[in-house]
Amino acid sequence: MKKYFGLVLLIGMVVFGWQGVFAKQEPILPEEEGVYSVHGRPDLKLRIFVYKEKPETQKGKPVPSPVPICGLTDNDSLAVDNSAGWHLPAIFEYTLNPSSVPSSIISNVAEITDLSFDAWIGALDLGQVAISKNPVNTTVSRAVFDGQNIVTWGRTSGSALGVTYIWYDNTGLAVEVDTIMNKKFSWSWTPYNISNLCSVQNTYDAQNILTHEIGHWFGLDDHYTTEYQENTMYGYGSKNEVKKDTLTIGDVLGLNLIY
Ligand SMILES: [Zn+2]
Repeated sequence: MKKYFGLVLLIGMVVFGWQGVFAKQEPILPEEEGVYSVHGRPDLKLRIFVYKEKPETQKGKPVPSPVPICGLTDNDSLAVDNSAGWHLPAIFEYTLNPSSVPSSIISNVAEITDLSFDAWIGALDLGQVAISKNPVNTTVSRAVFDGQNIVTWGRTSGSALGVTYIWYDNTGLAVEVDTIMNKKFSWSWTPYNISNLCSVQNTYDAQNILTHEIGHWFGLDDHYTTEYQENTMYGYGSKNEVKKDTLTIGDVLGLNLIY
């Protein structure tokens, strides 16, 4: 068979065309921040957000820290998040992949995901966006433009806590979103409690990080300056932090400028 492979491929390409033969081969999407064109879909753009660990310094200067010290109050912020250029439709369904979730959070992952969406839904007027969970789970653990909006743990590049991919059209409507959380890190879940604003020591709180990622689903951009360090849309994530489970006034105002 091997010696006829080239011939079969050639005939296939003549009959079905190049696209037909290779249609099942999904491209590997990058994990670099940016706006990308979408092959074969000139009406769409793909935006990629990479959520990084907070570095200690940048260009020799200390990076503004969200100061995740247990017992501190969850400070508010009036810094208004910017729109990244899309909005979700009125009805949107997400699909969970529990098969690749770390064992430390597997028993809570459905609730964690639900709460991460609720933070944003609760800040909108009733009925503006309705999010539902697909009752059928997926096993897809990487970003693919396949009609499913997935939340999954999987492999991402070294320093990324999570990577979110948003395909949106030229009217500013999100048509598909995928979030890949990096399973290489230590994850935990501590339900938000105002008197104890820390997760399990030396772990990333899954709801804290995922609530930020879901902010991108709703159309919000990252922010890296000091005035945003209390916002859920602050561009760096920290260990032990759970305060991003709740939104700041600036997060809520930014959201309501989009919807
Ligand atoms: Zn982000």
